[in-house]
Amino acid sequence: MTKVTSINPYNGDEIKTFKTHTKVEISEILNKADKRFYSWRETTFAHRKKLMLAAAAELKKNIKEYAETMTAEIGKPISQSIAEIEKCAWVCEYYAEQAEDHMANSIIKTDAHKSYTSYEPIGVVLAVMPWNYPFWQVFRFAAPALMAGNIGVLKHASNVFGSALNIEKVFKRAGFPDNCFITLLVGSESIEEVIENPNIKAVTLTGSGPAGSAVAATAGKHIKKTVLELGGNNALVVMKDCDIDKTVDICVQARFQNTGQSCIAGKRLLIDDKISEVFIEKLLVKVRELKSGDPMEEETYIGTMAREDLAKELEQQVKNTIKAGGKLEIGGKRQGAYFEPTVVSNVSPTMDMFKQETFGPALSITTFKTVDEAIELSNNSRFGLGVSIFTKNIEAAEKIAYKFDEGAVFINSLVKSDPRLPFGGVKESGYGRELSEHGIREFLNRKTIYIN
Ligand code: NAP
Repeated sequence: MTKVTSINPYNGDEIKTFKTHTKVEISEILNKADKRFYSWRETTFAHRKKLMLAAAAELKKNIKEYAETMTAEIGKPISQSIAEIEKCAWVCEYYAEQAEDHMANSIIKTDAHKSYTSYEPIGVVLAVMPWNYPFWQVFRFAAPALMAGNIGVLKHASNVFGSALNIEKVFKRAGFPDNCFITLLVGSESIEEVIENPNIKAVTLTGSGPAGSAVAATAGKHIKKTVLELGGNNALVVMKDCDIDKTVDICVQARFQNTGQSCIAGKRLLIDDKISEVFIEKLLVKVRELKSGDPMEEETYIGTMAREDLAKELEQQVKNTIKAGGKLEIGGKRQGAYFEPTVVSNVSPTMDMFKQETFGPALSITTFKTVDEAIELSNNSRFGLGVSIFTKNIEAAEKIAYKFDEGAVFINSLVKSDPRLPFGGVKESGYGRELSEHGIREFLNRKTIYIN
């Protein structure tokens, strides 16, 4: 057994020390989870719906408690933590209402008297999750999994164990039976043995490429299905005919909300050089207005980054980009885990801020001359999570949407997740989908029933 201590990145205070689960405890927990599956899958949709709506109500009732833990653990501004919890309540309500429809048999006409696909839960699913949206990343897995009749076992990022235990608490307080949703307190070094355990039937991971690759390799060895939601380097493609003021506002939000620590953040601003000067000027005004400060304060928009090492990594990417010819327009300085909102223009595809994912409040700007060049620049990435296109010519934008190698194209909007829409990427952003009916079906046995 080892111990893990959560540190508040804003003030360096120790929040709490957690004992991690031992090998024996892990094995006992997974046995109990498997046992619970056989009774849980017998419950009706009406029963599960009642419990899932109670989970939504619990999130709203104790929103402050859950939000404050998150803010303390990762330095996320409190108003954004509250918004995150509200979104979790929404996904619970969505699947409470929709799961039965999403899992209804699909009748298929064949030469049989009757044939159809029956959608059935598969058992205990392991969720390996990141710290950046400590509640949302988990709930978008847990709500469909539990409504489907599966069991959820969470291995959360090591810096958010308080939130991980709070999530378990939400389901307990809502009245879910024991062992329907369990938090394992383990570091990434224990993941291999968890995946190897025969009680685990599948794995979903949201996180970085190396973590995804390691988890998928182990799961592959044991023929267990995976869904991977990995990194992103989304472009914000700004056409010369866009509504400049509205686009500036959306781009600032797309890059700087959650202090820039979002997989779907718009990280590379690609702009038609005919409007770049006026656009950058307006953008800088808005970036200057972003309020940094104590994450517990209501008005704070930019908190600290989740850990000092992450801020140092970003600092290096920004420094390297400037050294290679990028122009620092604003920001660039770090203090502990805090990194100033930063904009670097004149960025070319060989520079770090273009090639690599920047997971913090730093935006790169690259100009283009033609739409074809914009598409080429946007696709010049290992990742393929999403892209935003800003233009008044919506018809033209829709026509070129297929040319973007992405899991999502949003026109005149930032890329966002929504319980009703499928979410996921292509290329090194991963595979599989979360949310909507696509998400719930990832961990179901699509059983063929044939009656003659
Ligand atoms: P991370 O370091 O990959 O950690 C994610 C989870 O994986 C944590 O629980 C971590 O546990 C675990 N992990 C790390 N290395 C592992 C390994 N070798 N084997 C098994 N598990 C391992 O990612 P992060 O820093 O928390 O999150 C940032 C990354 O997540 C970014 O790249 C971001 O783009 C991506 N992300 C993607 C999405 C999406 O939906 N596509 C959403 C959010 C974030 P420990 O904490 O114990 O190391």
